[in-house]
Amino acid sequence: MSWDFETDPEYQKKLDWADRFVREEVEPLDLAFPHLQFVPLEGKRREAIDPLKDEVRRQGLWATHLGPELGGQGFGQLKLALLNEILGRSSWAPIVFGCQAPDTGNAEIIAHYGSPEQKARYLQPLLDGECFSCYSMTEPHAGADPTLFKTRAERDGDEWVINGWKFFSSNARTASFLIVMVVTNPEVSAYQGMSMFLVPTDTPGVNIVRNVGLYGEPLNEGSHALIHYEDVHVPAEAVLGGEGQAFAIAQTRLGGGRIHHAMRTIGSAQKAIDMMCERALSRETAGGLLADKQFVQGYIADSYAQLIQFRLFVLYTAWEIDKYNDYRRVRKDIATAKVVMPTVLHDIAWRAMQVHGALGTTNEMPFFGMIHGAGVMGLADGPTEVHKVTVARQVLRDYKPSDDVWPTQWIPRRVEAAKAKFAEYLELEVGNQ
Ligand SMILES: Cc1cc2nc3c(=O)[nH]c(=O)nc-3n(C[C@H](O)[C@H](O)[C@H](O)COP(=O)(O)OP(=O)(O)OC[C@H]3O[C@@H](n4cnc5c(N)ncnc54)[C@H](O)[C@@H]3O)c2cc1C
Repeated sequence: MSWDFETDPEYQKKLDWADRFVREEVEPLDLAFPHLQFVPLEGKRREAIDPLKDEVRRQGLWATHLGPELGGQGFGQLKLALLNEILGRSSWAPIVFGCQAPDTGNAEIIAHYGSPEQKARYLQPLLDGECFSCYSMTEPHAGADPTLFKTRAERDGDEWVINGWKFFSSNARTASFLIVMVVTNPEVSAYQGMSMFLVPTDTPGVNIVRNVGLYGEPLNEGSHALIHYEDVHVPAEAVLGGEGQAFAIAQTRLGGGRIHHAMRTIGSAQKAIDMMCERALSRETAGGLLADKQFVQGYIADSYAQLIQFRLFVLYTAWEIDKYNDYRRVRKDIATAKVVMPTVLHDIAWRAMQVHGALGTTNEMPFFGMIHGAGVMGLADGPTEVHKVTVARQVLRDYKPSDDVWPTQWIPRRVEAAKAKFAEYLELEVGNQ
């Protein structure tokens, strides 16, 4: 029997250290340097942040998502989940621990599919935390259905020439390179006819037309780029993992990315519960503490119940990934975690906001940011609806149709079958009466 809900004591010590370190040293960065996580470090910011990264390295917690051959610790996804739920409290924490999206997913696919030259050029600086990367897949006219993508690369001698539009290419404005998914052979199905390219951001023809911001950010000062790729010439060696491999690579990348978001969401939702409980114990109204009002107790109990189920499921899914070492085999559960995540975060943050009254709705508390984050989680890496379809299809694989018009669990037929099975005993009982 190998079921076990205990963290090994040595790793628990590391988690305890990380928890303290994030609360005391990293969470203040969110307030001192907001929205600058993906701006390359320089000057005073480098002076403030480099020592924190060094401390994480000294503790052996740098880039824990990667194996030792890539400069990480090789802890696997379960340990990463336990760490990520701590990092999810702070927007700077993943950067300080060297495991921020989208760079983690991008590093993972370069590590899996990159040539030695590509790894030397792109992977090492990414792992060292010295550059950022961008995953450029969604197009203005199509996101959830990649078979509709039109951005094209055509062969021209020893080069490929890329033309087309990409939308919501996060961090393109500060990334050193882009991983771009394009059509290389329109004659075959999209599943065989699309490829990934590694493109340095300063390549002529990579035109960032707009930096789309999320709600609350100033117009054109966001980090999600609309990019016009206009006659972008790249060498033949810029293809990642071979021509026609884009879908296979995307699955590797997005599988990891989705579960990592879920891990961090646990931390964010737990932070909302922490704030809700503190407020409930601090605020008096109508003759007593909020904590003594049944509605508020309901909020706390529902939030705890929602989060504990989600957390156990995410940890289980991480354990499955470690066990099978194959994202495709764990696809159903990764998609399920992705489906549940926005609702868990939304519901808990909403209740926490409500318990804080008017203050909860202001820009002096983080709740609307969390609720907005829940909306983002329902879209980034694919909309909830699409993941529900995946879950349903995977669940249905384990079933077959009934042989005739009546369901197999139709009681009259089962009664007949049960009577036939126990006929000998039933007759005896009748005989005894
Ligand atoms: C904060 C953020 C960061 C992002 N970062 C990146 C990035 O770095 N790189 C990148 O390439 N993309 C990125 N994206 C884009 C993201 O991958 C897309 O938004 C997502 O795939 C959905 O595509 P879309 O927005 O075009 O929506 P659409 O494809 O137009 O879908 C719109 C809606 O239609 C419904 N729908 C769609 N398909 C189905 C279906 N099969 N069944 C039922 N309903 C359906 C859903 O309600 C869906 O929300 C990011 C998005 C966000 C919000």
